[in-house]
Parts: sequence; structure tokens; C-alpha cells
Amino acid sequence: MGTYVVFDMDDVVANIGPLILEALNERTGKSFSLEDWHTYDLAQIYDLSYSQMLQALYDHKVLERATPAKGALEVMGLARDAGFHVGILTARGWHPEGRSISERWLADNGLMVDRLHVLSPDECKAEVICEFGDVELFIDDYHKHVLAVHESGKTRKTILRNQPWNRSIDFDHRVGCLSELASHF
Ligand SMILES: [Mg+2]
Repeated sequence: MGTYVVFDMDDVVANIGPLILEALNERTGKSFSLEDWHTYDLAQIYDLSYSQMLQALYDHKVLERATPAKGALEVMGLARDAGFHVGILTARGWHPEGRSISERWLADNGLMVDRLHVLSPDECKAEVICEFGDVELFIDDYHKHVLAVHESGKTRKTILRNQPWNRSIDFDHRVGCLSELASHF
């Protein structure tokens, strides 16, 4: 079955923050920067309902237009060279076409993945991570997932990808860029 390195998708291997920023600033007339995102709860920052926020993200096609994060292709290759399978565990289930868009995007960008799990709204990453079997490392930018997976003890290493919305979180295992992951393989 093999051992997996499991990546979150958005704002880990896919740059989506700048597109979400454009979408929500345009929709609300506000002019926040990414540095102003002090919490993961963007609906709260923009004073939108959750469904209003999602509509802005659909309309702006943020999933379709994301670009690969710097170092994503390389670090997945290094994980593979070290003998690991590569997995993606993403919460894109908020989008009705989250899975098909993600599959196409990964293929179009040459990112080879052995297993892709798109979380449905009633699932949590700390439970679903078991489906990958043996997991060497899990990386995510959302502290809620990172802390829950870390506490579950189901992975050898759990890493938080630095982003403005997680900087106040007390968690030592962090990387600032994907290339820093190489030392963990
Ligand atoms: Mg993310």
C-alpha cells in the first residue's frame, strides 16, 4: 500500500489566496490585503454570509484559475524519489465541481497524485487521513486541520504552512515555503 505524503491543496500546492482576495474585495468594495486576513473566517472579515462568500468564489472561478505554488512540482517529485506516494486531501467539497476541477488542474499542471480525497462538508481531515493508510507527513495551511490531525496521532509529522491567517497559532512545526519540506523526507 505504501507510505504517503499528504498535501492540502489550496494555499499549499495551489495559489488561491490572491484570487479569493480579488473576488471578495470586488464583491464588497473593500480593499483588504492578504496580510489583513488574521483569521480563516473570511465571511466574518468581509461581513458576508457563508453563501454570499461562496457565490463570489464561484463567480470569480478561483479554483479554475489557481496557479501551482512555487516548488510544488519539485517537492512532490522529491517525495516520490524518496519512495513515498503523493496524496491530496482538500476541503474543496464546498464547490459542486470541486473534484473534477481539481483532477483537471492537477493533470494540466503536471502534478502527479496517487490519491485525491475531496472532503465532503460532513467529513473532517483528522478522520479521513486514515484512508491514506500509513502517512509520513501531512501539510496544511488551516490550523484547525493541522491541530486535529496532529492530535489524532495518525501521521508521523504534521506541518503548518505559514500564511497570514495562521500566524497567531501556537504550533512549532511550520514551513515558510514548500522547498523546506525536503528536509523532512
Ligand atoms: Mg488550504
